[in-house]
Amino acid sequence: MAELRVINSGKKVLAAKDAAALTSQLVSGLEKIGLAMKSRTWRREGRAGLGPLQRQVLTLLRSKPDQRAQVSTVANELAVRLPTASEVIATLERKQLVRRRRDVSDGRVVMAQLTAKGNRACGPSSGMPDRLAMATSTLSALEQSVLLTSLVKVIRSLQDQGEISVARMCVSCQHFRPYQHPNADRPHHCEFINAPIGDRALRLDCQEYEPASNVQAKEAWEKFTGLHSV
Ligand code: SF4
Repeated sequence: MAELRVINSGKKVLAAKDAAALTSQLVSGLEKIGLAMKSRTWRREGRAGLGPLQRQVLTLLRSKPDQRAQVSTVANELAVRLPTASEVIATLERKQLVRRRRDVSDGRVVMAQLTAKGNRACGPSSGMPDRLAMATSTLSALEQSVLLTSLVKVIRSLQDQGEISVARMCVSCQHFRPYQHPNADRPHHCEFINAPIGDRALRLDCQEYEPASNVQAKEAWEKFTGLHSV
């Protein structure tokens, strides 16, 4: 009996070591992707020569009413410092993708607004960042779906840690109803489009997103993660 306990405890220690090693490999892999996205080649050859943060600013402005937002809102929603947001917006203005204006109702407030050129640069017809799209398209349909749901969970955890302030994801949207349908391919429901959706259709940055209450978001998250299996 004592021998069995020692064997079981040894197995648990090994499993914990394996899990820690795997976590370390995943972090290392994500860091490599982050570094690659900052590389000069990637930035030069990426969509419209835009860096990742520049693209995020354009996408954020595109999602706003009148495609405009205060510079401080951009900083807050992208979890970057105000000087960083101001610098990126100034760069985008030099590229004629964004224009800055003082708010007519409060001259102290600076607004950034997408130009027509900026709208085209981040619109659906502009294509995705080429290399990243190419890399993810090498995955099978199942691998892509698993990666998407894994990203949802990683982003959600980073939000909880205060590293990402806003993510317009289904899992925290008031229109999201996880596991409403018996259909294994499309078990969730989006009230906005009033249709079932599958894991493959989960959004990370949806224009129709409306934040759920804390209670609704918590319940949806528990149901989503509780019933979700790979
Ligand atoms: S509105 Fe968008 S974010 Fe909300 S549930 Fe529907 S698809 Fe998801």
